[in-house]
Amino acid sequence: MQPTNCLKKFLLQDRSARVISVQIDDVWQTAQAHQPENAPIRQMLGELMTAAALLSANLKFDGSILLQLQGNGAIKLIVVECRQDLSLRATVKLNDVALPDQANLQSLLNPDGQGRFSVILNPPRDNPGRQPYQGIVPLDSNSVAEVLQDYMRQSEQLDTYLWLATGKERLAGVLLQRMPSDGGQTQGSSQQQDASFEHAKALCQTLQTDELIEQSSETLLHRLFWETPIVGLESLTVSWRCGCNRNRVADMLRSLGAQEVESILEEQGAIEVTCEFCGTPYSFDRVDASALFKPVSTTVTDQLQ
Ligand SMILES: [Zn+2]
Repeated sequence: MQPTNCLKKFLLQDRSARVISVQIDDVWQTAQAHQPENAPIRQMLGELMTAAALLSANLKFDGSILLQLQGNGAIKLIVVECRQDLSLRATVKLNDVALPDQANLQSLLNPDGQGRFSVILNPPRDNPGRQPYQGIVPLDSNSVAEVLQDYMRQSEQLDTYLWLATGKERLAGVLLQRMPSDGGQTQGSSQQQDASFEHAKALCQTLQTDELIEQSSETLLHRLFWETPIVGLESLTVSWRCGCNRNRVADMLRSLGAQEVESILEEQGAIEVTCEFCGTPYSFDRVDASALFKPVSTTVTDQLQ
């Protein structure tokens, strides 16, 4: 299986639907390297990563999209970030409780009904004046795909369907979305459009999990849509990028405050921080830590000497 990390998007020629497909290979390997090894947890992480890539390609938002599953079961939090260039990073945080016998989305995240799914749209870093947008929905469904579908219907009010598959070495998914009616700009009557969308949905519903993982995107899309004219085909590449660095860890330590940092130093001698996404270690000894809280002007002078 050749790595592809490839996302394809196009419209049906009659503009009744948008189709996005993605396959994620070595990016998925990288993502798993520093996360829990439990199979049901990895499946959920994989599905959320696939969904994040599909949604990013669909929303055309110029910052980054964060998808978060939060709960009070064995999983505390799954976070996936996807930027406009389709670079991804992801992490899982666990609660200190035993895994349930029947591990699924409800038992792992929502045993008490307090679980939440949120979508956060972060503006680009070079536009800090813009406020992030956050949409939250309860975890009423049984799969990541259903949670996302519920969210998309509530927030965008567009019929959206997702098929997500997690394999050991590959993630794969397809998103199908009904296009909004645009006042006669589309080809054909709205009845024809509806029929065309329903036909595309019926085709996608034949997708099997094994097939999503094992077949190439080209083979899959050809099997589904070989009779359907399509337009605007784009092929994009999905990548892994964490983006953590020492300065950001320093900012995080500053936000804890001098007292908290001092108490960690007293206890442990140095501050060791490991990035939850990529596993990169960052170490701050007593000298580094004291520099964190020096007034800026002093720090600048120090650097100039
Ligand atoms: Zn990192």
